[in-house]
Amino acid sequence: MDCIFCKIANREIPTEFLYEDELVVAFRDIHPIAPVHVLIIPKRHIASVTELENRDEKLVGRMIITAKKIAEDLQISEKGYKLLIRVGEYGGQEVGHLHLHLLGGARLKEDIGPIK
Ligand code: 5GP
Ligand code: ZN
Repeated sequence: MDCIFCKIANREIPTEFLYEDELVVAFRDIHPIAPVHVLIIPKRHIASVTELENRDEKLVGRMIITAKKIAEDLQISEKGYKLLIRVGEYGGQEVGHLHLHLLGGARLKEDIGPIK
């Protein structure tokens, strides 16, 4: 399958991992929109939140716990950060492989709202 994040996860595209375990990998976003912008993804291809099943509870928990640990490692935890998952067209999802954005390192804008 031609999925960029699958290729990153299985090391077809060389990318430095900030974290890796049997379920997830984390790496820096190629076009950061915050001083810290890390993506946490499942190793297994899951297109979106819409494709999650009950058996994925452990995986989804691991994604969030991983974000928490990376935030601590990168010393943005005390000031706070955002976790973001875009879903589908209206959610603005561009890569069709589930990913959790960890955004921080500065106070971030709060500009979510309908596009006029
Ligand atoms: P989305 O809009 O789907 O929530 O976010 C996709 C994110 O993936 C974007 O922030 C984009 O910059 C990032 N991205 C897309 N292609 C690559 C890539 O090849 N490497 C990395 N590290 N990030 C990517
Ligand atoms: Zn994939």
